[in-house]
Amino acid sequence: MRKSVVAIVGRPNVGKSTIFNRLVGERISIVEDTPGVTRDRIYAEAEWLTTNFNLIDTGGIELGDEPLLVQMRAQAQVAIDEADVIVFMVNGRDGITGADEEVANLLFRSNKPVVLGVNKVDNPEMRENIYEFYSLGFGEPFPISGTHGLGLGDMLDEVIKHFPEREQEMEDDETIRFSLIGRPNVGKSSLVNSLLGQERVIASEIPGTTRDAIDTPFTKDDQDYVIIDTAGMRKRGKVYESTERYSIMRALKAIERSDVVLTLIDADTGIQEQDKKIAGYAHEAGKAVVIVVNKWDTMEVEEKTMKEFEDKIRDNFRFLDYAPIVYLSAKTKKRIHTLLPRVLEASENHAKRVQTNVLNDVIMDALAMNPAPSIKGQKLKIFYASQVSVKPPTFVVFVNEPELMHFTYERFLENRIRDAFGFEGTPIKIFARRRS
Ligand code: GDP
Ligand code: GDP
Repeated sequence: MRKSVVAIVGRPNVGKSTIFNRLVGERISIVEDTPGVTRDRIYAEAEWLTTNFNLIDTGGIELGDEPLLVQMRAQAQVAIDEADVIVFMVNGRDGITGADEEVANLLFRSNKPVVLGVNKVDNPEMRENIYEFYSLGFGEPFPISGTHGLGLGDMLDEVIKHFPEREQEMEDDETIRFSLIGRPNVGKSSLVNSLLGQERVIASEIPGTTRDAIDTPFTKDDQDYVIIDTAGMRKRGKVYESTERYSIMRALKAIERSDVVLTLIDADTGIQEQDKKIAGYAHEAGKAVVIVVNKWDTMEVEEKTMKEFEDKIRDNFRFLDYAPIVYLSAKTKKRIHTLLPRVLEASENHAKRVQTNVLNDVIMDALAMNPAPSIKGQKLKIFYASQVSVKPPTFVVFVNEPELMHFTYERFLENRIRDAFGFEGTPIKIFARRRS
């Protein structure tokens, strides 16, 4: 199910990043501990009560040396285009400034729900300051303090009230949702066009409308698919669309809503550092992944090059060792028929449940064949294992002492599980828990 998206907008220094970091809590720093993978600081998951949503700090989208006003307009536009609810943040110590009014005017015309947060209201005496903000025309102003963490609950209650209903999307789980990510010019739009079998422009939008995402459904061999729109596929010509942060943010947003992520690589230019970073996002999110080497028409001798390319990919994307690789040309459509079967298979594996008794046979056989090495004289005992969830398949192994489950042993168990059940295309997760 798609999560709602909340964007924070406001002129510089009102406290957007402070509030963002507070709402996102520790999640960002935890994620950044994963070697080689960092989430962008302007887009992250947040939680209020039992509701999860995604949060954007539009202040992080900067346009080089453009004047302040241009920057602010672009940031407000990102919020209008990407968010379900906008938090418009002002500074309770400064009163309303001309720049606040500029932002207000843009938001006013957008028809998106706007919640007004008056920040830097650090103590109750300062609450008087909020009344003048009624004149901005967004209803009740919510006094908050980013540094002290005050008033955020009341403001979030209001934000959540405006989340759209999502029931319809929950029903059609037979549909496979996938997105295409990759550096600019790897051929994302071209591949979408080839898959859809016609030269159609994805971004056939009427200027000024604020549709959130342009998802394209299609059916192939009786299977329904939806292509989730990513930045770089739509090319609408807005100033901020060329910024790297915006395209990362769009990619994260698209990944979030996908079952399967196609990570594109350009055969012509070869693997680059940025490719690894982008592929890391898909892996991190626990989605099924298919690696697509596009522009295969530019390569000379087929079979030999394919093997060489595969070695390079496996070497550079070790964390994606489960992802199948497809070589194709979006332009000439060569080998393009090989793609969807892989997407389907990856999606099925991502949602696969295995039988508990068979799982336990596999684990016990693995244990008999290769007992866990002792750590400080203590030996790992495995009692039983169980699959606790899907998307991605997640297993809990009940043991005498979780600390005795070394990373390399976990990896060994993962490989045994993969050999037995075939989880090609999907990450799997294994947790050791103490048997209580
Ligand atoms: P942004 O440019 O809107 O993202 O603003 P920042 O989050 O970078 O904050 C700008 C400055 O305001 C920083 O020095 C913060 O420490 C300060 N600040 C943020 N929130 C509060 C608050 O609630 N009270 C006070 N007194 N200062 C704050
Ligand atoms: P995007 O930025 O990832 O959406 O990339 P585009 O789809 O706009 O493609 C970028 C450029 O690569 C365009 O000039 C395409 O014509 C070209 N291109 C895309 N796919 C292929 C391909 O399979 N082979 C070749 N030779 N060129 C391609």
